[in-house]
Amino acid sequence: MPRFAAHMTGINGDRIMTIRDIIISCCSLLPLAAGADTLIHAGRVIDGVGERPGTEMTIRIDGGQIVDVQRGYTTPGQQDTLIDLKDRTVLPGLMDMHVHLTGEYSQDDRLNDFIMNEADYAFDAAKYAKRTLEAGFTVVRNVGDSFNVTVALREAIDGGDIPGPMIITAAKGLSSTGGHGDPSNGWANHIKGDPGPIDGVVNGVEDARKAVRQRYKDGADWIKITATGGVLSVARSGQNPQFTEEELRAIVDTAADYGMRVAAHAHGTEGMKRAVNAGVASIEHGTYMDDEVMRLMKQNGTYYVPTILAGNWVAQQAKVEGFFPELVRPKAAAIGPIIQGTFAKAYDAGVPIVFGTDTGVSAHGDNAQEFALMVEGGMPPMEAIKAATSVAARFLDIDDSYGTLERGKRADIIAVSDNPLDNIRVLENVTFVMKGGEVFKQL
Ligand SMILES: [Zn+2]
Repeated sequence: MPRFAAHMTGINGDRIMTIRDIIISCCSLLPLAAGADTLIHAGRVIDGVGERPGTEMTIRIDGGQIVDVQRGYTTPGQQDTLIDLKDRTVLPGLMDMHVHLTGEYSQDDRLNDFIMNEADYAFDAAKYAKRTLEAGFTVVRNVGDSFNVTVALREAIDGGDIPGPMIITAAKGLSSTGGHGDPSNGWANHIKGDPGPIDGVVNGVEDARKAVRQRYKDGADWIKITATGGVLSVARSGQNPQFTEEELRAIVDTAADYGMRVAAHAHGTEGMKRAVNAGVASIEHGTYMDDEVMRLMKQNGTYYVPTILAGNWVAQQAKVEGFFPELVRPKAAAIGPIIQGTFAKAYDAGVPIVFGTDTGVSAHGDNAQEFALMVEGGMPPMEAIKAATSVAARFLDIDDSYGTLERGKRADIIAVSDNPLDNIRVLENVTFVMKGGEVFKQL
């Protein structure tokens, strides 16, 4: 109500509030009276809150927001737009907590470091963002990019310039020298150089603070660190710890000063323990998570972002002769297949789990393949859906406006042809996507 308040307090100078102003101001506070709404007739509704789907409901949308969810099919007014999804299951927009929109792994990956410019990454990222949205993902957390491209991408999407999900980004991730995420790993000595905190390479507490502050300056929303070795970096170990406890604490504490939280890539147990103890918000992959780590995560409220899809994908590709560099291949073959078992154990142990795929390893737009792997790992379909909707919104601290189909939430709404509680794989074929009240896909 800024206009109303301005008139009342006389900020607008000589403008005096008229009866007409009052009527206009008051009516604008009552969305139901404003005319031209969009109504969705939804055959089945999974709202992200309830344990069972509702049937035959009407979702009323105005100004990009859900203004009402009613039982039965409400007749639209003359000015209203009706979207008929009576033969579909309607859900909140999906959210993926682990994507990399600036790339998609291929055999050319290492060559790309030398032939691609920032603008090339940016155009690729715009293409992948569109694909992600069309797959039903209306919010993503991007945990590691190239050249801070996802900061500009976030702004372009928010401004309505290009289609894509809402992006919450960590920009370029933080690593240590030779660690998973050191951009010059595997390069020849004469071009390797010595990347530092601005490039995301941290050695010591001072570097750690500087690197976090640099990300704040660059416009990042989160901080991403690689707490242990990783599968796809051209380096020997996939699981050794790669930060000291002091460095981790400096990263987490400095991030907190700027209102940012930390996502920690981790495969090995020791690095995971250090990261959880330092206070990171999430463990990504978590391959060799043991009982102690699970207990610590529950105790600290640390979320697990499983990325089973990426594990499966690298294990498959490791079978292809020559696909990965020889330093990478055995790590991919060993680590990949373990993640689904870890997921099952973590779920049984009651570790908080939120949906994330590491897409950019596997192909953009395939994100929803993670659901079937979660269900195979023992999570009931409704819980897997909540992990990608209401639980994800809570994790990101945006649950006042996102994650469920309820009055007052943003109109991020998708639909699929069948009931995902009967066959979770129907989420792999999203037939309708609305974001902020705007339709981006309708089949
Ligand atoms: Zn990743």
